[in-house]
Amino acid sequence: MTDKPMSRQRRWRKKMIAEGRCMICGKPRTSAAYCDLHLRYQRNWRDRRRNQNLCIRCGAPRDCDSKSRCFKCLKKYRLAQRRKSGYRPWREGYPGRPPIERNP
Ligand SMILES: [Zn+2]
Ligand SMILES: [Zn+2]
Repeated sequence: MTDKPMSRQRRWRKKMIAEGRCMICGKPRTSAAYCDLHLRYQRNWRDRRRNQNLCIRCGAPRDCDSKSRCFKCLKKYRLAQRRKSGYRPWREGYPGRPPIERNP
């Protein structure tokens, strides 16, 4: 892990998650990160953006073939996913998919 300074919001979220609470309101949670209310809220929000062809994270128009994120957020998301499962940059000749480098 890194000891990069964390923003207040991130620290709050981490604390809430660690204590088993909703990371938005701090109530006891029922899903991975949210209480009932906020889980529903997040889902609605996501669906609405998805239906409007917008990125579910930042709300920008979706400019790539991902079904839910814009190109920028998709890259971030993939990086985060990769970090979770032991981050190794892709190299030619190695297994795995090459990174997508493409101008929208
Ligand atoms: Zn909540
Ligand atoms: Zn986005």
